[in-house]
Amino acid sequence: MSQGGDRAKRSRATRAALVGGTLLAALVLSGCATGPVSAAAGGHRHTPHRSSPTSRPPRPTPTPSIPATPAVVGFDKAAQSTVDPASTWVVVNKPRALDPITYVPADLTYPDVRYVNHQPMRQETAAALVAMFQAGKAEAGLDFSVQSAYRSFESQTGVYDDDVARNGQAYADTDTARPGHSEHQTGLAVDISAVPAQCSLDACFGETPQGRWLAANAWRFGFILRYPADKVAVTGFTFEPWHFRYIGTPLAAQLHATGVTTLEEFFAIPGGPSY
Ligand code: ZN
Repeated sequence: MSQGGDRAKRSRATRAALVGGTLLAALVLSGCATGPVSAAAGGHRHTPHRSSPTSRPPRPTPTPSIPATPAVVGFDKAAQSTVDPASTWVVVNKPRALDPITYVPADLTYPDVRYVNHQPMRQETAAALVAMFQAGKAEAGLDFSVQSAYRSFESQTGVYDDDVARNGQAYADTDTARPGHSEHQTGLAVDISAVPAQCSLDACFGETPQGRWLAANAWRFGFILRYPADKVAVTGFTFEPWHFRYIGTPLAAQLHATGVTTLEEFFAIPGGPSY
């Protein structure tokens, strides 16, 4: 669904202010808080560009195809563990279970947001999610809810076994992760829905204003759209435009800047549809 109608109704000044706010938020959240723009960010959020020599914003709103921050040369891919389930860089997929397989995060919390299913998430995930939801509201007038978040090994076992009982294992393995292989067990994954609900847990969520905004902006808050439409063979999971995985802003910004869209490709870790 196009947002062109809404855009046409906005005044140029309003649009410029929104773009300016987006840029500042992006720069601050992506780790550039020590850069020259941060001084302006600490002052009047929506007006810094008006005092510059040119009254127009220097760059458009960040999108996946227009990196707002350059890739870090020599980015240390070994800075954090991709095996430790408590690491925000942990990679779990079909051939790669969590270790230990019954891992439970130690810092689960419920952020003050809207929920469809009242499920917790890790504290770092929660803080980033709150910031992302607030930015989506402030910049685009959008509302979001948590469809689902943390699922324990036991609850994932229930979901998977139920799917197998109803649809058979072959089918279940295409749409439900086996216990120990779900990102939801890490407390770092959140399924996000639109408010009011529209296309929840459906591929068409990607075409909603919320889905589009998240796809373009989640990286600024340390999240990635974990299962892109064109990477099913890499991730082993079908397109899930509602499933966002927290990885922290340095890594998310690096992925965004380099154009790499999966953890498997970035870290050269096997994935795919087979357990
Ligand atoms: Zn999910």
